[in-house]
Amino acid sequence: MIDVKQLSKSFGDHLVLDKIDQHIYPGEKVVVIGPSGSGKSTFLRCLNLLETPTGGSITFDGVELTDPKVDIDAVRRQMGMVFQHFNLFPNMTIRKNITLAPVRTKLMSQAEADDTATALLKRVGLEEKADAYPNQLSGGQKQRIAIVRALAMRPKVMLFDEPTSALDPEMVGEVLDVMKELAEEGMTMVVVTHEMGFAREVGTRVLFMDGGHILEENEPKEFFAHPREQRTIDFLSKVL
Ligand code: ADP
Ligand code: MG
Repeated sequence: MIDVKQLSKSFGDHLVLDKIDQHIYPGEKVVVIGPSGSGKSTFLRCLNLLETPTGGSITFDGVELTDPKVDIDAVRRQMGMVFQHFNLFPNMTIRKNITLAPVRTKLMSQAEADDTATALLKRVGLEEKADAYPNQLSGGQKQRIAIVRALAMRPKVMLFDEPTSALDPEMVGEVLDVMKELAEEGMTMVVVTHEMGFAREVGTRVLFMDGGHILEENEPKEFFAHPREQRTIDFLSKVL
């Protein structure tokens, strides 16, 4: 589904991603872990061109995103993204947050989008919040809304950048539960997280990033039981 070839990214003369090769197959749940500053967010943001790569290519569902002729907005609509800090529109109701993009892009009529929003809110147990504003919600509720807002666009893949890192501990579980459900339904997911339990339980593959490289990757059981690289062992000894 996503084919990354020799992907590099520099900010000025700071090389942040160094010739990354990676294939993400339909239905995979790829969990990206690694120390702060290793390039995890930059890698994720390059996948939907929120960051422009300085080298290499990215192909999504047969379309080469790095081709200047590509309508990147059209492609991006098929890639849902969830951020650490929710990024909800503060001046809009929850319903409007969810329906805005599908209506604007003509994916749905307002009536269809409203029905979709109702169904999605029901699914995450937040129906009664449709007319509330984001600042009336807890962090965990906001993040569940951010996830269903992305789902309203019927994306082919969901990208998550530390979706639970800004939450109070008691709210982490409710967000991870929504992500687990999504995984069980077969969604293709790329998740940057420090939640090793999630990586183990839900991940089909773990990528360990260090210094702009994918230093090590494996299926979760093997990855956690038998990490190969010293850097991986050091990292895991700090987070487990
Ligand atoms: P991680 O998500 O693993 O913590 P990032 O991808 O955010 O790492 O950052 C990797 C490196 O790139 C860091 O050294 C960071 O300072 C740098 N970086 C990230 N975004 C920018 C930017 N917009 N401008 C300059 N440097 C950046
Ligand atoms: Mg990051």
